[in-house]
Amino acid sequence: MNSVVNHASPQRLKFLQGYPADTLAQVAQLIADQQLGQWLQNKYPDAHGVRTDKALFEYLQGLKASYLRGAEPLTKVMFDSKLQVVQHALGTHTAISRVQGNKLKAKREIRIAALFKESPPEFLRMISVHELAHLKARAHDKAFYQLCCHMEPRYHQLEFEVRVYLCHLEASGARLWGLQAQPGLEALA
Ligand SMILES: [Zn+2]
Repeated sequence: MNSVVNHASPQRLKFLQGYPADTLAQVAQLIADQQLGQWLQNKYPDAHGVRTDKALFEYLQGLKASYLRGAEPLTKVMFDSKLQVVQHALGTHTAISRVQGNKLKAKREIRIAALFKESPPEFLRMISVHELAHLKARAHDKAFYQLCCHMEPRYHQLEFEVRVYLCHLEASGARLWGLQAQPGLEALA
C-alpha cells in the first residue's frame, strides 16, 4: 500500500468519525484521487465577505436577533487563529463570570476559528449557528441540534461538509477559498 492511499484510508478520517462507512469510503477515495478540494469548490464556489471581527460581530448579532432574541447579549466576538478546532467541535464559546458589585454577570464570548474567515457563506453560517446555539444549550444533545436546525435547516449537511473540508486540509494542507493559498493546518494544530 502506498502512502497516499494509506493516508486517505477511512480509518484516518478523524473528523468524520461516526458517519456511515460508505460515506467515509467515498471521502477517502476522493482524497486518494486528489479530487476532494475540487468536489468542495464545485459545491461551494464562492467565499463570504465577513473579513473582520467587527463584521463577524454584526453577522452574529443579526442571526441572534432573528432566532435567539431572548438569549444573553454577546459581549465579544472574534476570529481566532489559535483556536484548536479539533478539541472542541469546530468552535468555542465561553461564559466568563465576573463579579460586579454584588451581581454576577455572565460575559458571553464567541470565538470562531480563523479557518472560517476564508470559507463559503454556508460554512460560516453553520459554525455561527453552532456557537449561538450554545448560548441556550451547553451540551451537544438533542435540544442543541434542534436549535441548530431551527436556525439553519441544512445544519447537519453543512456540518458534514465542514468536516469534509477539515479532512481535506489534513490530507493536503491546501486551503480553499483563500485570498491567497496558504497551508491550512496551523488553524487546526
Ligand atoms: Zn459545540
